Amino acid sequence: MYRDEVIPLAEARTRVLDLCPPQEISEVPLAEALGCVTGEAIVASQAVPAFANTAMDGYAVRSADTTAAPVRLTVVGTLSAGSTPPDQPLASGEALRIMTGAPMPAGADAVVMVERTQVDEGGTTVTIQVPAQPGDHVRLAGEDVRVGQEVFAAHTRLAPGHLGVLASLGLAEVAAFPRVRVGVLSTGDELVEGSGQLRPGQIYDSNRPTLLALLVASGFEAVDLGIARDAEETITDAIEAGIAGCDALVTSGGVSMGDFDWVKTVLNRLSGDEMGWMQVAIRPAKPLAFGVVEGVPVFGLPGNPVSSMVSFELFTRPALRQMTGHLDLDRLHVSAVADEGLRRQPDGKLHLVRVTAEPGADGRFHVRSSGAQGSHQLLAMARANALALLPDGDGVQAGGQVWTMLLDG
Ligand code: AMP
Ligand code: MG
Repeated sequence: MYRDEVIPLAEARTRVLDLCPPQEISEVPLAEALGCVTGEAIVASQAVPAFANTAMDGYAVRSADTTAAPVRLTVVGTLSAGSTPPDQPLASGEALRIMTGAPMPAGADAVVMVERTQVDEGGTTVTIQVPAQPGDHVRLAGEDVRVGQEVFAAHTRLAPGHLGVLASLGLAEVAAFPRVRVGVLSTGDELVEGSGQLRPGQIYDSNRPTLLALLVASGFEAVDLGIARDAEETITDAIEAGIAGCDALVTSGGVSMGDFDWVKTVLNRLSGDEMGWMQVAIRPAKPLAFGVVEGVPVFGLPGNPVSSMVSFELFTRPALRQMTGHLDLDRLHVSAVADEGLRRQPDGKLHLVRVTAEPGADGRFHVRSSGAQGSHQLLAMARANALALLPDGDGVQAGGQVWTMLLDG
């Protein structure tokens, strides 16, 4: 459906997010799970450590034997990490040479670190120089994770440490929201690939490398679908081919009011009665074509390079995060100090100004414009690490407060 009215950002986002529900969870191999979000709470079916073991290289002893240290004990063997403890419990007057990670032998209740001992020449006896307390340098079973303990809640984003915990529980897979594969398609007769020769009127395709990188940087799998020319049939074919192998599609260009802006027409048709085209009360990135084609969300982002990036941040990234099970969809927003005036004209829109944001000595972020603010002027967007959000009005004076969306970290 075409929507001629200009709608607020929040409303446009809701329309998009409502059509991008979380994907079904599946068993994801640990090696592929970095950055994925857990689909259910993870409950430990075994303890970590699974058995009491030594935290030090030294001698396993009966602490009661060492009260009168220095004392001499008989060395009855050596236990390395990975070896099975002896069947015979340690008897009074005995010590067992033991290495970090080795299981505590029965009968022993403490470890004396090797630095506090002196072994005789033959190695048959050892002098324990200090008294040991029960439990010294012993890691108890379940000290890290108890059986039945919930280690991670549902919707936890898996970082390297999480994967380590899962591996320590003997898990090779985790129930998680699968990573999404997202195709990126550029549209435009003027576009030239890579470093090819430009004829008059042509430009290099910069949106595709940018959007592919934005996807990867946000933890999604990106698929390069190339360039489609400005013809209704070509764009129809490209979108239909794209959705066949992808969980979502991102296109750029062809969504404004021009004679050759076919993406919105095609998306409107392919997505049936679902959302087709919107105009959002923001600057840059006013037009957005969005539709669900055969279950695959398609984001028709504007062609202007800054607009496509901003639109990606405002719509695509949150929607893909929702599909992949994240509960926090948005970038961090902070209240920042404008170190210079960020002026604007009232026009009924929210302006997203490309700025550099830096933490100041006062503990607050401070922002400055990162350069020329045209939607075709990508340099200032590249140099920016944040977008200052200027509500409708005159903007903000130097020293004033401005809500700012941090783009990295
Ligand atoms: P459109 O939305 O197709 O009217 O494009 C708006 C502006 O963005 C035009 O100046 C296009 O040349 C430019 N543009 C569209 N696609 C790309 C692209 N992939 N890379 C760089 N500029 C583009
Ligand atoms: Mg175009």
